[in-house]
Amino acid sequence: MSVCNASLSSHQNTTKMKFATKAIHAGQEPDPTTGAVMTPIYQTSTYWQKSPGDNKGYEYSRGTNPTRKALEDCLAALENAKFGLAFSSGMGATDAVLKLLQPGDEVITGNDLYGGSYRIFTKIFTKYGIKFHFLDLSNPENMRPYLNEKTKLVWIETPTNPTMQIIDIEGVAKITKEKNLILTVDNTFASPYLQNPIDLGADIVMHSVTKYIGGHSDVVMGALITNDEALYKDLWFVYNACGATPGPQDAFLVLRGIKTLHLRMKAHCENGEKIAHYLKNHPKVDKIYWPGFEDHPNFEVAKRQMRGFGGMISITLKDADLQETFRIASNFSVFTLAESLGGVESLINHPATMTHGSIPKEEREKVGVTDNLLRLSVGVEDIDDLLEDLENALK
Ligand code: PLP
Repeated sequence: MSVCNASLSSHQNTTKMKFATKAIHAGQEPDPTTGAVMTPIYQTSTYWQKSPGDNKGYEYSRGTNPTRKALEDCLAALENAKFGLAFSSGMGATDAVLKLLQPGDEVITGNDLYGGSYRIFTKIFTKYGIKFHFLDLSNPENMRPYLNEKTKLVWIETPTNPTMQIIDIEGVAKITKEKNLILTVDNTFASPYLQNPIDLGADIVMHSVTKYIGGHSDVVMGALITNDEALYKDLWFVYNACGATPGPQDAFLVLRGIKTLHLRMKAHCENGEKIAHYLKNHPKVDKIYWPGFEDHPNFEVAKRQMRGFGGMISITLKDADLQETFRIASNFSVFTLAESLGGVESLINHPATMTHGSIPKEEREKVGVTDNLLRLSVGVEDIDDLLEDLENALK
């Protein structure tokens, strides 16, 4: 089976489209058999071949499926790139990138990461002989002493989960290009609406599509996007060989969700900014992490590489032990205490015991993921209701 060359969207030139138009149309055209305006759910595992190899570009749905292909083309267009691949989760996408490596290879990554990324690095791929360096990458030059002939991949997340560090993608890319390394950026927190890492020099963009792209907390999915054909072919090989590919129903739901990505992101940013400013002066809040504050250590980089500051905010509570932090986390009525982020509904999360529970306490505390830290995913509800909920919960 070869890389999929089939497409439902052969007439499109998405490079000329603005973001909102791409979110609604890229990868999608009226269905060639019926004229259906919405991309159908091609609920099939296999495809007719007139004679072996004589097919319409689709052979078996682990490798290629038209509904998924429409989504992949849309995702690629939103990141201003040529190639997209959808995976059955963000972790499935991460796993595929790491499978490009060989035993003995080394990876440079940040010291604040989604807990599941830390877990797959330390508990799975370390076992297969890959070495990870977890560094403070707020200054990309911090990588230099760790680079050697075994270094193959740099993996960054920006903004980071949950302490909202901002990593200078262009600064890191300057070094990865000089040393011929693959730079992968986990762009989940920003979404393609706020940041396009490939334009800044990244080789691969990874998304937990589960979050802002899906946007409705009803699908778990991941994606990899690249402009590099050789990398795409290598990644497609892993995708098809290992098989962590999503079904057409999920692809349809994400295609539907993505059509409002630009509208939702605008609302997330507006609500996020109001809530960040409200919390900054709140007597119960000790530290606040949000990249839109001028006193954020990398505010200038955030302003340069992002088109807005997003709806993710973390706070530490003043004089709060674990019990008091749990009490406050359970005190909300509009915000829901739950894992995940990026949906239309506001969520609150306790990273130390939830999303980052797999990181040893001494490691997470080094970067500020303390027991009194709460992470907010600000949704798109009415801002007055969100502020009132915070006011009541923080009593
Ligand atoms: N990257 C980041 C920044 C995340 O927050 C998450 C999930 O929370 C993932 C990757 C993993 O994605 P998924 O849960 O879709 O596997």
